Amino acid sequence: MGFDLDRFAEDVDSDLKCKLCAKVLEEPLSTPCGHVFCAGCLLPWAVQQRLCPLQCQSICAKELHQVLPLKNLIQKLDIRCDYHARGCAKTVKLQELRDHVEMCDYSPAQCRNKGCKEVLNLRDMDSHMRESCDYRPVGICQKGCGLVLLHKDLIQGNHCCLRALRAQNGALQVKMSSLEQDTKKQTVKWSKREKSLLAQVSALQNEVQLTALRYQKKFNQYMIHINNITKYVASHCKVRKKKKKIWVIHCTRWRGHHLLLFFLSLLIFPWKCLSWYMKYCR
Ligand SMILES: [Zn+2]
Ligand SMILES: [Zn+2]
Ligand SMILES: [Zn+2]
Ligand SMILES: [Zn+2]
Ligand SMILES: [Zn+2]
Repeated sequence: MGFDLDRFAEDVDSDLKCKLCAKVLEEPLSTPCGHVFCAGCLLPWAVQQRLCPLQCQSICAKELHQVLPLKNLIQKLDIRCDYHARGCAKTVKLQELRDHVEMCDYSPAQCRNKGCKEVLNLRDMDSHMRESCDYRPVGICQKGCGLVLLHKDLIQGNHCCLRALRAQNGALQVKMSSLEQDTKKQTVKWSKREKSLLAQVSALQNEVQLTALRYQKKFNQYMIHINNITKYVASHCKVRKKKKKIWVIHCTRWRGHHLLLFFLSLLIFPWKCLSWYMKYCR
């Protein structure tokens, strides 16, 4: 939907108006046949009717495109503030409207005094809260309750300490019960969190213990293996020593008492005897 014509300070050219809503184009979109409408007016039309609103040709939503020069032209038009009816007499360029509206002194705001429902212009808020609001604080009750007195209590002259204290008590109880509920919710939430963390810790402990046991088992297996190898090597060395000892005894006898036999063998198998001698008798 476009901008209302009566918001513009001057007459707007008919080329800048949407033929669907008859207002000034807002986010102009063009059809493939070159006709321009507001995006908010044309998109639903294109989806439902699938035809240019001026009946030229069939269209689909994907074929629509922005017309930036036209958009820029419209953004330069002078427009009245959104809160013109509330008293703002300002006229700004359309492109500055949003910034102005955010800061406008005539934007509506609700009174911040507790109990007051009045909605007024932002610029009147301070003076209302300080000077004219019926719910503005005007002093402390001196009759005994010590509560804050509101302007309405003074003008009505109906402040009753007991009633005021009861009302305050009731309000405090409501607040307390809501706080208690919040605390309960938080306690449940934290207890759940604690349980889940404890479960995680215990799972981790179990895993660590299992891993330690696994490594202990492997270590024991390796130790058994190493012992076996040590034993095997030791026994092998003993056998070799024994063999060598026997041969040394044999060779001593050869050298001492059978020297003649050795020389005879040397004559018959010279190389074999020499290699035996080199291996066992040195
Ligand atoms: Zn329109
Ligand atoms: Zn058309
Ligand atoms: Zn304004
Ligand atoms: Zn007020
Ligand atoms: Zn009182």
